[in-house]
Amino acid sequence: MLKRNFVMLLIISVCSCKSKKEIEQKPESFTIGVIADCQYCFCEPSGVRYYKKSEERLQHAVDILNDQDLKFSIHLGDFIDKNFASFDTVAPIWNSLKADKYHVLGNHDFSVADSLKHIVFEKMNLKSRYYSLVKNNWRFIILDGNDLSKHGALTEEKRQQTDSIFELLSKSNPPNLVEWNGGLSRKQLTWVEHELLLAQQNNERVGFYCHFPAFGEEQTHNLWNYEQLLALIDNYECVEFYFNGHNHNGGYVQRSGVHFLNFKGMVDTESSTSFATVNFTKDSIIVNGYGREPSRKLKLK
Ligand SMILES: [Zn+2]
Repeated sequence: MLKRNFVMLLIISVCSCKSKKEIEQKPESFTIGVIADCQYCFCEPSGVRYYKKSEERLQHAVDILNDQDLKFSIHLGDFIDKNFASFDTVAPIWNSLKADKYHVLGNHDFSVADSLKHIVFEKMNLKSRYYSLVKNNWRFIILDGNDLSKHGALTEEKRQQTDSIFELLSKSNPPNLVEWNGGLSRKQLTWVEHELLLAQQNNERVGFYCHFPAFGEEQTHNLWNYEQLLALIDNYECVEFYFNGHNHNGGYVQRSGVHFLNFKGMVDTESSTSFATVNFTKDSIIVNGYGREPSRKLKLK
């Protein structure tokens, strides 16, 4: 009996040692895949946008991403250019990603028949229009910049809020007051603040993903109420980055220690792609760009 108890004790202690060792070996560093503005449709090129090419470009990117050990991949909005049927060409390619995958809503994702707008989320495997993910001591906040917009406000309440913000901004007529941009509702901003508070309490670092920029060298593509979001971010030292698409030319600026990185659009140019892997280490964000996307090393606070 004594011997059996001793064996049991030995098994328990071996098990607990192993789990402790596993915790110690858990890598702090992890990598994700990032694609912006795949913007596929079976359409002829317009300007620098080669819509049909996005099918093979997305497949190529997925093949490369599937060869790597990724925490997840994220598409930063405008998965299609227009027509609901466009999803049927690119969604199966995206869904073949082995790691977890997430979508951010872009303005073009709503360029479908009005009767189909309410099933766009389902088609993109989204349970909520905006949401958060907690991974390895990071809180990633995924925004919906179409919450208030001419194309994506789907309830009467949101349409009214859209009209009032549009009217209010019309008085000063800023360069970003265009119908292909959008804004964050009061409800979403309150939710963002709640997420930031949680991150602060849990000692987590915070990164934002949105289709629309909140800050950059030019303002034309910015969220309508980007100033409200920046004022909120300014109160939280835990915010480290803001990743977006929408402006296909891309760009990078730093503001109060926060990295604002606009990824280039995959759909642009006749013969080159654009996407990235992003490695999060203890003290840096390392962007490994493919095609037109530049590689960068961004220091964390
Ligand atoms: Zn866009």
